[in-house]
Amino acid sequence: MASAPPAAARHLKVTGVVQGVGFRPFVHRLAGRLNLTGWVRNVAGTVEIHLEGSPPQLDAFERSLRGEAPPVARIDTVETTKAEANGASGFAIIESEDADTLRPVPPDIGTCAQCERELLDHADRRYRHPFITCTDCGPRYTIIDRLPYDRERTSMKTFATCPRCAKEYGDPNDRRFHAETVACPDCGPRVWFEGVNGEGRAEGDPAILLAATALHMGAVVGVRGLGGFHLAVDATNDAAIRQLRKRKNRDAKPFAMMVRTLDAARAVAHVSEHEAAALQSSARPIVLLTPRAGAHLAAALAPGLDRVGVMLAYTPLHHLLLKAADRPLVMTSGNLSEEPIAIGLDEGRTRLRPLVDAFLLHDREILSRCDDSVVRVAGAHDILLRRARGYAPVPLPLPVASVQPLVAVGPHLKNTFTLVRGNRAFVSPHIGDLEGLEALEHWRQAYDRYRDLFRVEPTVAVRDLHPGYLSTRLAEELGLARIIAVQHHHAHIAAVAAEHGVTTPVVGLAFDGTGYGDDGNVWGSEFLVCDLAGYRRVGQMRYVPLPGGDLAAREPWRVAVGYESLAGWHSEAFSLAYYGVPLSLRSGVQTQVARGVNAPLASSMGRLFDAAAAVLGVRRHASFEGQAAMELEALAGDQHATPLPFPVSEVDGRLQLDPVPLLTALGEGRRHGVDVSTLAARFHESVVEASVDVARLVAGSYGLDTVALGGGSFQNARLLTRIARRLAEGRLHVLVAQSLGPNDGAISYGQAAVAAWQLSRE
Ligand code: ZN
Ligand code: ZN
Ligand code: FE
Repeated sequence: MASAPPAAARHLKVTGVVQGVGFRPFVHRLAGRLNLTGWVRNVAGTVEIHLEGSPPQLDAFERSLRGEAPPVARIDTVETTKAEANGASGFAIIESEDADTLRPVPPDIGTCAQCERELLDHADRRYRHPFITCTDCGPRYTIIDRLPYDRERTSMKTFATCPRCAKEYGDPNDRRFHAETVACPDCGPRVWFEGVNGEGRAEGDPAILLAATALHMGAVVGVRGLGGFHLAVDATNDAAIRQLRKRKNRDAKPFAMMVRTLDAARAVAHVSEHEAAALQSSARPIVLLTPRAGAHLAAALAPGLDRVGVMLAYTPLHHLLLKAADRPLVMTSGNLSEEPIAIGLDEGRTRLRPLVDAFLLHDREILSRCDDSVVRVAGAHDILLRRARGYAPVPLPLPVASVQPLVAVGPHLKNTFTLVRGNRAFVSPHIGDLEGLEALEHWRQAYDRYRDLFRVEPTVAVRDLHPGYLSTRLAEELGLARIIAVQHHHAHIAAVAAEHGVTTPVVGLAFDGTGYGDDGNVWGSEFLVCDLAGYRRVGQMRYVPLPGGDLAAREPWRVAVGYESLAGWHSEAFSLAYYGVPLSLRSGVQTQVARGVNAPLASSMGRLFDAAAAVLGVRRHASFEGQAAMELEALAGDQHATPLPFPVSEVDGRLQLDPVPLLTALGEGRRHGVDVSTLAARFHESVVEASVDVARLVAGSYGLDTVALGGGSFQNARLLTRIARRLAEGRLHVLVAQSLGPNDGAISYGQAAVAAWQLSRE
């Protein structure tokens, strides 16, 4: 082909997620197929391609570039310019000039269909190799030490490729051409089984069979995975799961399970097309599904809830283990209750020893901790409940670039942090609650790793308004020249607006459990008129005293006491809330409220759900925050319902929703024998209608046409879809959380967006 003079030349610049996902090898193959010459190289997070050949072939290349790109690649833009033809012969992958600028790190990618086929093919040389990968799949973020991404800078560096793997790596026609994680049984990492004291060690295939046998017998097996350890248990064995709950100190919080195939998921749960797509996406998140009646699953998996978390096997080791176990497995993070997930070999052995009966281990180091992501499908929306493996660390754009590199340290609970350089926001994977030294240490490690990987050296820290949070201390201890504080609910709405590129004022509905208000009270049902520059609180839930403060989140009956004080004591409607609560305790708490001792004022939506669950007699004590709300949502289902009284009035120039008549109507209805699921549905509908009324009033009086929904309460699918639909019916444009979830995992990104805006205006 070099003999004919090239008719034309073009230069293409491709942006998006195009590095570390097999993009250059793909370009190489495509150019070869179309008889084009030239080169491809990575430049500062983009891919540049020089092509020479006939114009029709060049056109074909541009079409196929988008149509046939590797599954995990995401092409944002392709910029084409005419170039000088210089008679290049052949096509080359040129090593990148490593400009000191932002380069993306690819996320971890679930085992692709081709690798899965080879894994189970007797004739393939990687038959049953637990570390089979290719350019389209395998670990990335969790094994990358530094950039640029090649084997030398990953934890695969200790496994020297054998000649056959090296040949595949160098062969443009092989699907492992430039696959940095290429490995085989001759040269790859090892897997082994061992007892908690290191006894009974077995390597390779027998290790997997031994682990499966242990699981069959009801054992808890610590499995070293991709982003950390899992604790695995037979998902059909009730006694084994109860044992795991006891050891992990976890009463009722649902466990996720893993199955090998989509069919296996369909055997245990109903899976819509949309949910199937989420399950099979390259991120392979945990997807919350409705269990199938009569499915062979242990009752202790997700007690009282109508959803179970299911994920598909996402590494070859998982495929082999599930095939051998031949049943769904609970796969929950390898930690004690809320501590960070264990990743190191010895760390896992030591920390998990009290929790497990045996280990299934491997010797490929995990460099970055990364939990499983969690998704829930609600109508047309994917609600991201936890953004971690498979999503992080893909950066999100900010609508306005920050003139200074910054770190937003995030909230107190469900923490993530965000590093910003220019208009790119690197949101960390889920870190968890910032309580305890382990969590703080995890935060600092993840922060250092992120700074290193993305070469961001912040000069500004952004924190929550709360003076006492550990996150605030973290921000201060970084010793940066400047600290900016951002109110929690402003950050919620800013996060949603910013991910949609909206910088003009919106009506924000920020509904959640807790956030520190600028008046020192606990906020959580806030109607804001806001943009990135600031907010005005134009509506709120009527304040209620929360006896015991944070304790009330675990004891819904206490919230009911708070509301009963607003109703004027001795309302019969509240009586179901106190069933089983000792009278002396109850009157103590009543006194506490009456005297205003440790009873902060709250406008929290989460606590309103708790109070409703209490007066309906559904739940008086919760083992995790949000449990009562999840149960109410499950009870309500999607049955049609009419709202109960939930009046809105203007108090001190601000709209105020008064839930006292609503709670009274719920309690009375229940006491008169109205079905609890009907009342749960009517409660939801009341919140929907009152919220929509306020949003419309505010939009009307401020001349706004866009409403943004943020905050953890929008994890409730009924609340989210109904409010979004009713607002849209009123011709309002509705923004919902997409790239990040609605919950506090998005706060750091919102903080970053507000701070970037502020800095750019100075
Ligand atoms: Zn693959
Ligand atoms: Zn090899
Ligand atoms: Fe929040």
